Amino acid sequence: MDPTAPAAVGDTRPVVTRFAPSPSGELHLGNARTALFNLLLARHAGGRFLLRVEDTDRERSQESYTRALMDELRWLGIEWDAGPDREDARGPYRQSGRAALYEQYFARLVREDKVYPCYCTPLELEASRRAQLSAGRPPRYAGTCSTLSGAERARREAEGPKPTWRFRVPRGTRVEFVDFVHGPQGALTDDIGDFVIRRADGSAAFFFSNAVDDAGMGVTRVLRGEDHLTNTPRQLLILEALGLPAPRYGHVSLIVGADGAPLSKRHGAVSVREYRERGYLPAALTNHLFRLGHSSALHGLLTLEEMARGFDPQHLGRAPSRFDEQQLHVWQKDTVHHLSTEAARAWLAPVLPPGLSEREASAFVIAMRPNLVLPSDARPWVEIVFGGPPALEPAAEAVVRSAGSGYFAAAAAAAREGADLPAIAGAVRAATGRKGAELYMPLRVALTGLAHGPELAPLLKAMPAGKACERLARFA
Ligand code: GLU
Ligand code: ZN
Repeated sequence: MDPTAPAAVGDTRPVVTRFAPSPSGELHLGNARTALFNLLLARHAGGRFLLRVEDTDRERSQESYTRALMDELRWLGIEWDAGPDREDARGPYRQSGRAALYEQYFARLVREDKVYPCYCTPLELEASRRAQLSAGRPPRYAGTCSTLSGAERARREAEGPKPTWRFRVPRGTRVEFVDFVHGPQGALTDDIGDFVIRRADGSAAFFFSNAVDDAGMGVTRVLRGEDHLTNTPRQLLILEALGLPAPRYGHVSLIVGADGAPLSKRHGAVSVREYRERGYLPAALTNHLFRLGHSSALHGLLTLEEMARGFDPQHLGRAPSRFDEQQLHVWQKDTVHHLSTEAARAWLAPVLPPGLSEREASAFVIAMRPNLVLPSDARPWVEIVFGGPPALEPAAEAVVRSAGSGYFAAAAAAAREGADLPAIAGAVRAATGRKGAELYMPLRVALTGLAHGPELAPLLKAMPAGKACERLARFA
């Protein structure tokens, strides 16, 4: 793929997208979808996909989360062209390593008087916020420190705590942009208070580092969650103040749970790690995420390459998209169905009894897999197939009794020759004249203790030698 191919006729910049997680928690499904969409957008256009770790918030960021994020992304098949472990000239790809760059841009804003120090205490800010709210106005920074005299600044500086630095938002204009999901957007600058771009500890605040990094890394498309839509005007103001190129922004609707509320811990598992640990497969997750908020005419289980070919940012929806575990199960079953026997064995390995030969494990996997969503679904069957003879519930007992001992004598004799269902059923049919369910049900019940379950022929093959015969002979 040529990473320099133009995104569209007339646009000479190659498409560069990025995923920019803050390593303050686990990768959750919403972020995984954002990462996936950015990967697909870049691949679709023959562009580049970057991973940038936004760890300027020292208190909340943890290196272990960064490592876990990268691990979960890779597991999903989401590979980046440059990132913290694949540095290039546009890096470093960890914001914690970019302080000197922020310093340069910051110094320029200071020189041009586009920022000013703010000495307001949290208490003062809160009081101002309350006053505005009670006057029925939306709260924003009142501009208290924007007009301090040199002497006043010097006094506050000497007094104590280090100031934050605020961006001087130009008055009386509008910021306009076209969101590639939501269409034309605008905000009055008078509705945006002067906002902090540098924290008191000297670190760059989100609006600032995020915007200048997109420019510095050559990012041309920012596809992110709708929760960032209202941040965009501020980021555009910063880029404009610095004369930096702006990316095109698109904001995808949030993922909601079955109850319509934004997906959260309340809905159960939300982190990719949890799904992975429960035995969901990457293709099942990516196929479900691909269809959340992105309408596609492509049906069936797709590879990431196929998704990239079919990805269309114009098909990103504005309505909240519903995460549906039932739908995920459909993709999961489809994915399991397509696994090689070897891959399926590895997938089921956590629940298989120790010491099985490869042949035994394969026979079990082949018998079970059409019935499984997760490996744990196979647990009861491990007991049924490899454990002692199953105890029968009264209803099951009745089925077996009504078949009679002649039925089972014929079955056991045939089973002694091998666990082959057609041969066993043939012998029983010849001995009893039974057919259909009448013929098969007593066999199933005697062998498994249950009236339902996976197909009987492969299940029989999975039973250790002699077990089937022993179970049938019990009723002869
Ligand atoms: N670090 C921000 C987040 O995780 C990035 C937002 C963006 O993609 O611009 O929400
Ligand atoms: Zn202030």
